[in-house]
Amino acid sequence: MDNNNNNINRNNEKLILLGSTGSIGRQTVEVCKNLGIQITAIAASSNIKLLEEQIRAFSPAFCAVTNEKAAAELKIAVADTAVKILSGPDSPRALISLAEGGRVLNAITGFAGLASTLETIKCRKTLLLANKESLVAAGNMVMSAAREAGVKVLPVDSEHCAIWQCLDGRNKPSRLILTASGGPFFGMKRDKLEKITPEDALSHPTWNMGPKITIDSASLMNKGLEVIEAAHLFDMPGDKIDVVVHRQSIIHSMVEYDDMAVIAQLSKPDMRLCIQYALTYPQRTHSLTPKLDLTKIASLTFDEPDMETFTLLPLAYRALDQGGVFPVSLNAANEAAVSLFFDRKLSFAGIFDTVEKAMADVPVIASPTLDDIISADSLAREKTAASVK
Ligand code: NDP
Ligand code: MG
Repeated sequence: MDNNNNNINRNNEKLILLGSTGSIGRQTVEVCKNLGIQITAIAASSNIKLLEEQIRAFSPAFCAVTNEKAAAELKIAVADTAVKILSGPDSPRALISLAEGGRVLNAITGFAGLASTLETIKCRKTLLLANKESLVAAGNMVMSAAREAGVKVLPVDSEHCAIWQCLDGRNKPSRLILTASGGPFFGMKRDKLEKITPEDALSHPTWNMGPKITIDSASLMNKGLEVIEAAHLFDMPGDKIDVVVHRQSIIHSMVEYDDMAVIAQLSKPDMRLCIQYALTYPQRTHSLTPKLDLTKIASLTFDEPDMETFTLLPLAYRALDQGGVFPVSLNAANEAAVSLFFDRKLSFAGIFDTVEKAMADVPVIASPTLDDIISADSLAREKTAASVK
């Protein structure tokens, strides 16, 4: 196999990068630079300082900024360049059809990423998906649209990337085993969780990520979202997806087969490896990830998740099992509750109760349309806000 970075198959490899200023977005820029992949368009919400740096560093043809005021400022700042600035909430979606490049890496955070996920599939571009909320809210719709359009959905999330690497292409797994770091509050009970501040929750033991996913990791909601994500990506029911707490974040997930063989993927915790795998698949080439030295890791430990304290994880299993708009409401109530926690209007443990309460009377819609999904998302956000007032 050719191991030269410059010789990776370049067919259609230009990339559109959504969420370029975030944790995944910035790491994707690093990986693309290392691999010599051209980024033709970028999108973000309001970080125009970094957008300007990115425009000057690699000259994308388009840049979408959802915040109109920020977009107007950026337009002035980069008036001397050839970039075309798009603005407004719909602008990341709009640039997918405009920009060159057969693949889109969606690293927008939250439900806001769904429109771009669907548009990527509609434009028949390969979808490299970090935005797990798209699959949680509209997994059936996204995966069936991708199947019908013949579009590949390549996971960037580390657990799903690990599972993808463990699949042998012939045998369907009997079980998926997602690993969880357990977050900074592993072992704590409810009384201690009441006193957690946003600052405490933002210090993750093994991963350095954006603020929303860091809170989700601390509450184990992230693992719940990932169970739903895995169910859709790998077509597995919830009762065949297990979660095991693995504090060191060295094994990124595992696959069990009928013969009880379990295949695991190991590496240092580094999202650049997952981003690169989605970019170079099916090839592997030299990466920026440091070498794993197992002798320096004294032990690998495994524990059961504490479902009684961290109630959002069992709630996510329930939402997956009930289907319809339940996962939409779960995701939306959680996004709203996390934002209230950041605003110090809700305690950390309050996130658990508020999401559960918002989910209590979600209407049953077995096969929701996109409009049903958007309405359910808004309703859950409203209920969450109202329950805190
Ligand atoms: P960040 O918060 O670091 O970055 C989010 C990015 O999305 C920023 O570029 C931000 O722009 C942009 N953005 C925010 N809101 C909007 C919007 N409404 N429309 C368009 N762009 C928007 O998040 P992460 O990079 O940590 O996570 C991104 C996604 O990847 C999430 O879905 C997360 O769950 C997933 N993920 C992240 C991992 C990680 O290690 N970070 C691991 C696995 C999955 P601006 O900077 O201007 O606000
Ligand atoms: Mg993950």
